[in-house]
Amino acid sequence: MKKIVLIDMDGVLVEFGDGSFKENKNKKGFFFNKKPIKGAVKAFKELSVKYDCYIVSTPVWSNPHCWMEKRLWVEKHIGLEAKKRLILTHHKNLVKGDYIIDDTKNHGVDKFEGVHIMFGQKSYSNWNDVLEYLK
Ligand SMILES: [Mg+2]
Repeated sequence: MKKIVLIDMDGVLVEFGDGSFKENKNKKGFFFNKKPIKGAVKAFKELSVKYDCYIVSTPVWSNPHCWMEKRLWVEKHIGLEAKKRLILTHHKNLVKGDYIIDDTKNHGVDKFEGVHIMFGQKSYSNWNDVLEYLK
C-alpha cells in the first residue's frame, strides 16, 4: 500500500501573491487567480507515482467563493492527478496520513498523526528539497 501524503495549498502549492491577505481574503476571484509556486505542479505529479497524494487546505470561512475557487484552481493547474483529491477542512489533524507538507502548524497541523514537513523553512525551503526527502 502506498503511503499517504497530504499537501497544503496556500504557501505550498499556491503563491501568496501581492497585497494583504486580510484585505483580500473576502474578494471574489482572489483565490482562483493565484499562481502556482515554482515546481509545485510537477512535484505533485511526481509524488503521485509513489504516494497517495491529497490536497488538504483550509478555506476562508467568511468567503464561500474561496471554497469553490480552490476546487477550480486545482482543476486548472494540476488536473487529473488531483481529481477528487481535494479535502477542505479547518481540522487537518482529522485527516489520515503519513506526511503533511504545510507551511504552518495552524488548523490542526500541530496535532497531525504523521510527520510534518514544514515547507519553506530550513531543510525544506522549496519543492526540490521536499522531493529529495520523499524520493
Ligand atoms: Mg499554508
